[in-house]
Amino acid sequence: MKFLSSRADPAGGGSPVSFRQAVFSGLSPDGGLYVPVEQPELGSRIAAISKQASFPELAAAIVAELVGEELGGETARRICERAFTFAPAMQPLEDGLTLLELFHGPTCAFKDFGASFLATSMEEILRQEGRRAVILVATSGDTGSAVAQAFAGKQNVEVVVLYPSGRISSLQEQQLTTVGGNVTALEIQGSFDDCQRLVKQAFMDPELRRTLTLSSANSINLGRLLPQALYYIYGHLQLERGTDEPLLYCVPSGNFGNLTAGVYAWQWGLPVAGFIAATNVNDVIPEYLLTGRFRPRSSLKTISNAMDVGDPSNFERLQVAFGGSVGQMRKWIRGIRITDPETRRTMRRVYEEAGMLIDPHTAVGVLAARRYREQTGYRGQILSLATAHPGKFLDTVREATGVTPDLPAALTEALSKEKQAVALKPSLDLLRGFLLDRYS
Ligand SMILES: *Cc1c(COP(=O)(O)O)cnc(C)c1O
Repeated sequence: MKFLSSRADPAGGGSPVSFRQAVFSGLSPDGGLYVPVEQPELGSRIAAISKQASFPELAAAIVAELVGEELGGETARRICERAFTFAPAMQPLEDGLTLLELFHGPTCAFKDFGASFLATSMEEILRQEGRRAVILVATSGDTGSAVAQAFAGKQNVEVVVLYPSGRISSLQEQQLTTVGGNVTALEIQGSFDDCQRLVKQAFMDPELRRTLTLSSANSINLGRLLPQALYYIYGHLQLERGTDEPLLYCVPSGNFGNLTAGVYAWQWGLPVAGFIAATNVNDVIPEYLLTGRFRPRSSLKTISNAMDVGDPSNFERLQVAFGGSVGQMRKWIRGIRITDPETRRTMRRVYEEAGMLIDPHTAVGVLAARRYREQTGYRGQILSLATAHPGKFLDTVREATGVTPDLPAALTEALSKEKQAVALKPSLDLLRGFLLDRYS
């Protein structure tokens, strides 16, 4: 597989990069996102995978097809075995609607799949090349903890996470600051924007560039996106049903990385009935599907806050995937917008009817799936992605249902450890000094 910028001229032009280049540069130099030049044809490969295959086995088979030629089949398989020490789980909710639980990883949200695969890939590639790298990440909360956990203990790579002091939840702070070892938390005396600005400045700083290999682990990194396609395939193989009918996937969406990965799985040959793009009131893409106009705007605050995105960056990838045609995109993706009161009611109803606690993001998906059936009369199977453990959104779940969910063990553990962070004023000089002192 080769990759091009989403902003490259579709008629040709721009030079394709390898998987390793795409992974270590994150963003294309022209500001675009990396997209596959051509989608591989894996339909028969997918059909040949046993329904009994474990998630790492399935992942290894697919990833070896995707990047085996470049990295070596053995390396591709080893990355999957080591990255996926946790797996998705199928949870039937009601007739025709099943949840694909993606929250059994170290930070209890689906982002663990992408972060863990990226971290393991980087480690393997750096070791092959005998190099070291420093990963810089600015976080407003969740991304940073998934990245910190994923890189914990990895060889040849150091991770520095910048977070705004006093502006992330205490659980998130605990998850970021208790990893230790090769993961350092920098508590910046400023805002999230300060953290982001510092990271950008560090990447452009001549002295740092000369001395260190700096890299990022943003959510738009291709190494986080590709592995997310794997659980769409897993769900297709695992869902018990009379026939092998294609599934309709419902995806609670914010930045649209998860949905884009599903579209890739379909383009690789996974049989799919379609996708529901479920959003909260930040509905830029459902609106685009309706009107054909893409109007990015400031995000609104909601209770499904990991989806509060007003300018979804993966829109560029979706556009490339559908040849820039809203008509084509509409054939495969239906947008549905859910409000906060509807989300709360859904959490309560699911608890009353099925005795199950779900987090607000998952609830947006569940209601969108039900609404889709009402609106279209669709009778097939829907697989709706459960993106976070309810224990991560304890207060919201308790307010909606009256019940306090259990905190998963992975999170309780982080709470009992001692915080270790280096406090820093938001200044490039201070950050440069810190990085050179530590890593050069
Ligand atoms: C990040 C996130 C989402 C949104 O995923 P995108 O890939 O950004 O669309 C949904 N739910 C949870 C819990 C998340 O953390």
